[in-house]
Order: sequence, then structure tokens, then C-alpha cells
Amino acid sequence: MKKLVFATHNLNKIKEIKYAISDFDIIGLLDLNITEEVPETCNTLKANALQKAKYIFDKTVLDCFADDTGLEIEALNGRPGVYSARYSGPDCDSEKNMQKVLSDLKNFENRKAQFKTVIALIVDGKEYFFEGKVEGEILKDKQGIGGFGYDPIFRPFGYDQSFAEMSLKLKNKISHRGLAIKKLLKFLKTRK
Ligand code: IMP
Repeated sequence: MKKLVFATHNLNKIKEIKYAISDFDIIGLLDLNITEEVPETCNTLKANALQKAKYIFDKTVLDCFADDTGLEIEALNGRPGVYSARYSGPDCDSEKNMQKVLSDLKNFENRKAQFKTVIALIVDGKEYFFEGKVEGEILKDKQGIGGFGYDPIFRPFGYDQSFAEMSLKLKNKISHRGLAIKKLLKFLKTRK
């Protein structure tokens, strides 16, 4: 089976991608003993995804891809967006990030939001991009214990469960990352 490096240390992301991709052997950074933080210092999801993929490609010369995801909240003019990972400050974590979003939205009726993912792929030294997004709303409180990141406070339109209450199968079918992966897979299949 062909190997493809996923430039992340996030085991939740690797789990989601491995669930969706069975035709390739997906290798995470820890499998390659790459433990240092991969820089992500750009101002757009696309540039961050490419920065991460390039960093690993330059190090390993292996075909690889990286994703960058942002939660864009309408009432907050698209924030936290590309800054989703660090939204609550330097010592942030998912819990603090979610609490900041809930507190920022306390006085807003409009709770519309979307998750957007950009995947940057480097194969044979060439760069390709795939996008996915899902619209929904920010809940008033956390719901569910599955998933990761902002999953407990995001409910996609048309569903009565938050991402954290869904099976991996359902989240992958409708999520930003799941949709971007679908496009990535379609592309990879045409190259076989
Ligand atoms: P990054 O793509 O790893 O930079 O993620 C940006 C931020 O979005 C981090 O706080 C992640 O925890 C969060 N995030 C990324 N993907 C998801 C997801 O699928 N659900 C919920 N939060 C996510």
C-alpha cells in the first residue's frame, strides 16, 4: 500500500483520516519520530496548511498533506477563524477556547457558524489544495464528550446532535474535514 504522511501530531485528526482513507497507509508524525512543533504562523488556512505540509516535505521528501481548520462565527465577524487553535491566548486549550466562544456569544441571538478546512497536499513535489466546510450553530452549552476541539459546542444544521455526540462515521460524512478528505481521495484515485 502506498504511504502518505499526514503532517500532524493530533491523534484525533489521524483517527478521522484513517477512518476515511483505506487505500493508503496514513503515517502520522509520531510514526516518523518527528516530535517538534510544526510551525503554523500564517494568516490564512490555505497558507497554514501549505506551511505545515512543506515543512514536513522538506524534512522527509515523502508525499504528504496537512490540514488547517477554522471555526468562523458570523456574529464575531468570522472569528476565531484562522486563530481558532489559539483563541483563548498563549496557554489555551480546547476547554478555554470553547468557554471564550460561549462567553463572547453570551449576548448574541445569531449563533450561526461554520467550520472550514483546507488540506494542502504535496505529491511528487507539486502542491494541491482541497476545501470542505459545514454550516451550523454554536450551542448555549457543551453537549457530548466525543470528538475534539470545538466539537461539543457545534451542531451542524439539519441535525439534533453536536459533533461531540455523533459517531465518527456520521461526523466524517458531513464535516468540513470529511468533505475535504473526500475531494483529496477522489484526486488521489485519479493519479493511481
Ligand atoms: P488546527 O487545524 O489543528 O490548527 O485546528 C484549529 C483549531 O480548531 C484547534 O483548536 C482545533 O482543536 C480545532 N479543530 C480542528 N478541527 C476540528 C474539528 O473537526 N472539530 C472541532 N474542532 C476542531
